[in-house]
Amino acid sequence: MAEKNLPFSKEQLESIIENHPTPFHIYDEKAILENARNFQKAFSWNDGFKEYYAIKAAPNPYLMKILREEGFGIDCSSIAELELAKRIGMSGDEIMLTSNDTPAYEFQLAKDLGAIINLDDISHIDFVDKNVGLPDTICMRYNPGSLKEGNVIIGHPEEAKYGFTREQIIEGYQILKDKGVKHFGIHTMVASNELEPAYFVETAELLFNLIVEVYEKTGVKIEFANMGGGIGIPYKPGEKPVDMEFVSAGVKKHYDDILVKAGLAPLKIFFESGRAITGPYGYLVTKVRHIKKTYKTYAGLDACMTNLMRPALYGAYHHITVMGKENDEANVKYDVTGSLCENNDKFAIDRMLPEIDPDDIVVIHDTGAHGHSMGFNYNGKLKSAELLLRENGDVAEIRRAETIEDYFATLDFDGVKDF
Ligand SMILES: *Cc1c(COP(=O)(O)O)cnc(C)c1O
Repeated sequence: MAEKNLPFSKEQLESIIENHPTPFHIYDEKAILENARNFQKAFSWNDGFKEYYAIKAAPNPYLMKILREEGFGIDCSSIAELELAKRIGMSGDEIMLTSNDTPAYEFQLAKDLGAIINLDDISHIDFVDKNVGLPDTICMRYNPGSLKEGNVIIGHPEEAKYGFTREQIIEGYQILKDKGVKHFGIHTMVASNELEPAYFVETAELLFNLIVEVYEKTGVKIEFANMGGGIGIPYKPGEKPVDMEFVSAGVKKHYDDILVKAGLAPLKIFFESGRAITGPYGYLVTKVRHIKKTYKTYAGLDACMTNLMRPALYGAYHHITVMGKENDEANVKYDVTGSLCENNDKFAIDRMLPEIDPDDIVVIHDTGAHGHSMGFNYNGKLKSAELLLRENGDVAEIRRAETIEDYFATLDFDGVKDF
């Protein structure tokens, strides 16, 4: 069984907690950097290769800045995410807008920033043309329908709301070419949290064949292919990370066999991965409030769904370490809960753990993507701080915790007195 390691000791955490009360997410800068470098190194054969970090996974400007220094772009899907890119000074083809059901003002900001716009639907060609004017470069999102299986989180491509059909996308390139668009990209994303590396190789093959077909039918030469996100991470002990060297070698083989042969190289390969970049390197640090014994045994934490939705939302597994008890026998069965008035506010159900006591520090693993960012304020629960464990061992607060004043900031209590 593969170990689930931690980048800090119990003593280190205790000293961090003296200045930063639990709960908080803490990210491991060194590991993020190493991972980012390896990700890019795997594709060094491809001139122009770029990973656009899916900012929704962890929309923190400090994390984005670290990744940007490694050459990453940013993948945005909302006005706030574009605004985040803008506020850290990003522009041009550093930014990709992959949105759906998109309002005109989002297209406008993307265009103003010079971002690459990735259209989700054929009707958006006219919509962008009329509302903001078509930019020189356009990407379109392909939904392969029954040609691809899909997986549990994202569902079957035929049922998924995203993208153009095959006929539509070919028609789309023709329309865009006729309207004077000069540079073209293609995008697809048909899986989420997929651990099978061959899956991404097959997706590349599918895209490359379509690129040839588009060229034959419309004369449009596509310049980049965005393979989307969806690369899984080993949440469970024993699972293996996706071998990006394997993916890269497989993609290169299809690149040579299909694109080079058809005279359609060079093509730049893009990804817009979130989870695989930061997911394993974030940790939710919490303390145990109460142990409750009724029909089951509950360990109640000071964190709740606000801090991490995935277990309650998808039944997702997140590994749990009780600090200082790593070597104790896991011989007690717990439901590990938060404090929401929602019975599904549980981080784990029937999890075997060492015996837990109030005030124990409990670390929930793999919260570096789709963790803090997904949280909501139901029950008036506040979102936590985010900390960064720097390469040199220092700890920086990269987002403060919400306060009750933040929570009430949109209400007018003076108004209610005269109401
Ligand atoms: C969510 C999303 C991503 C990132 O997904 P990960 O699972 O974090 O890799 C990338 N692109 C699009 C369009 C998305 O919706």
